[in-house]
Amino acid sequence: MRKKLAAGNWKMNGLKASLTEVEALIAAHPAPACEVLLCPPATLVSAMAALAAGRIAVGGQDCHPKASGAHTGDISAAMLKDAGASHVILGHSERRADHAETDALVCAKSEAALAEGLTAVICVGETEAERDAGATLAVVGRQLAGSVPAQATAATVVIAYEPVWAIGTGRTPTLEQIAEVHDFIRAELVGRFGAEGDGVRLLYGGSVKPANAAEIFAVSNVDGALVGGASLKAADFGAIVAAL
Ligand code: PEP
Repeated sequence: MRKKLAAGNWKMNGLKASLTEVEALIAAHPAPACEVLLCPPATLVSAMAALAAGRIAVGGQDCHPKASGAHTGDISAAMLKDAGASHVILGHSERRADHAETDALVCAKSEAALAEGLTAVICVGETEAERDAGATLAVVGRQLAGSVPAQATAATVVIAYEPVWAIGTGRTPTLEQIAEVHDFIRAELVGRFGAEGDGVRLLYGGSVKPANAAEIFAVSNVDGALVGGASLKAADFGAIVAAL
């Protein structure tokens, strides 16, 4: 039985004052039926983890593949863990695009996260041009094969399917399109990892909001969501948590 996961990605949003949203979220949903994870900017990981005190999980949005060293501006998995994180988002399409992250780099980062005991939330997803060209499954399959490390387990890796064209656009795939890709990801994971692959949680991400969350959560092999914009406000994210 895969435990459902509602994960929020605050991206480059949030100051200390934004932590009132976390207080409000926890107050409104003190005993959620699903696991709840928030990934604020690195500057807020420590304060959010202290505030959450284990009631929700806190994660980073990226980490360096190396444990330490001369990498100005970067942050290691050990640093995230030390700050109170239990998870880290890796290979988000914005990092793949803005920082030219390859599957091999995402895989190396994932290995670093796992070595520190962090759960890696590994993102995959096609661009609109790739979907229009009929290449969605080929792209997602290639990203999965290249980004997910060999030592992945159901407990240490979560996959987020995030069609790039659905992120922050208000557009979502049809439920049939989500099912097609999630069923494909499940089959790929089972093919590679056997029974362990059946336990890996698959999140859908891309313009999830209170109005569409319940219907997306009813889709086959959708074990939760990775939520961007709607995770910034306790009322919106709380409604998504409740739907899950
Ligand atoms: C995301 O950034 O992972 C995301 C899914 O964003 P949004 O929910 O805003 O589309």
